[in-house]
Amino acid sequence: MGPLESGCRCGIVLVFSPTSVLGAEDLHGAKDLTVRVLAKGGMVSVAAVLLLFGSAYPGHTGPAVPRTSKAKVESPNQTSSRYAAFKGGRKIWGHGVGRKITFTFDDGPHYQTTPRLLDHLDAYGLKATFFINSRRANPFGLGSAKSYAALLETHRRGHLLANHTHAHPNLRTIPPAKQKRQIELTDRLISRVTGEQSYLFRPPYGAMSPYAKQLLRKQGTTVVMWNLGSEDDKYFNVSKVLNAVMAKVERHGGGIILMHDTHYWTIEAVPPIIQAVRVESCVNLARGEEPYEMVGLKYFWRKRGGGTVPRSRADHRRWLSHRAALVKLCNSQPRAPLPAFIRGESS
Ligand SMILES: [Zn+2]
Repeated sequence: MGPLESGCRCGIVLVFSPTSVLGAEDLHGAKDLTVRVLAKGGMVSVAAVLLLFGSAYPGHTGPAVPRTSKAKVESPNQTSSRYAAFKGGRKIWGHGVGRKITFTFDDGPHYQTTPRLLDHLDAYGLKATFFINSRRANPFGLGSAKSYAALLETHRRGHLLANHTHAHPNLRTIPPAKQKRQIELTDRLISRVTGEQSYLFRPPYGAMSPYAKQLLRKQGTTVVMWNLGSEDDKYFNVSKVLNAVMAKVERHGGGIILMHDTHYWTIEAVPPIIQAVRVESCVNLARGEEPYEMVGLKYFWRKRGGGTVPRSRADHRRWLSHRAALVKLCNSQPRAPLPAFIRGESS
C-alpha cells in the first residue's frame, strides 16, 4: 500500500556441488538466460524463464520438479509449535543468512487472489508467511467472510499467519491507545484461527512507533522487515515485478521477499520468480557454489542476544531432497540453443 510496501515466499537447494553438474554449454545457456531476465523487462523475460524450466500454468509441461498436487495439511501438533518458536526474537531484515529466500505476503487475505496464490505455493511445495490486516477478514461481513475463509485455508495449508495491524494505519500518526487496539484486533483474529498467539509483526509502511516497539517487545513479538522488495505496488505487471525481485536477489544474495497477495499481477509473478531462482541455482551449482534455498521464515529468526532456530532432522531430510531434485533438474535442461530472440541476437 505504501512506498515501502513493495516487496514478499520459499526454498530450493544446496551446495558442495562439483562444477561438472552442468556442462559448459548448459551453463552458458542458463546464465545467458538469467542475464536477460535481469537486464530486460517485458514478456520476453517471463517467456525465457518459463521456456527453460516449464510453466506452473495448466497446459504446460515442466520438468520433474518437486511439486505437490495436493496441499499438505498440518496436524495440530505441527502447528502448535510453529508460532512459539518466534517468541523473543529481535527485529530482522533478511540479511546475513546466506543464499536463503523466503516469501512474505502483506495486506491480505483477499478471496479473489489469495486462494490462487496458495495453489501456486502448493505446486512448488513452499510455505510462506502472510502478514494480514484483520479488517479484511471479518467472518460476519459480506466480502470479508469470503476472505476469512481464504484465511482459514491459508492456515490449513501450513502457512504462517502474522500481524500487520487491523486497518493498516501508519502507527506513527495515531495515539498509543489506537496502536494497541490495531495490534490486539489482529492478534485476536489469528488466535481465533490458529488457536495460539502469533509472535510475528510487520508495521504498515515499515513505520514503527516508539510505543509499538515497546509494546511488541514486552509481548515477545518478533518484528519482520524485508530486504527484497518486489515493488508490486509500483509496477503493475508480472515482468517488472519478476525483474525487481531477481535484481535484488542478485544484489543481496537472498533474504526476505515482500509482496502483496491482494494484487493479481503479484500472484502470477510468484511461479516465474521461483523458476528464475532455480535458473540462478543451476548456475551456482555449475560453479561449485551454494545454490539458493527457498525456506520458511524461521531460518531468519534471531533471538535477542544471539541464537537461532536449530534445523531439525526433518528439515535436513527436506534439504537433501531439494538438493537432489535440483541437481537432477539442472542436468535435465534442454541442450539445444535458446531461440535467437531470447538470446538477444538480431536475425
Ligand atoms: Zn502493508
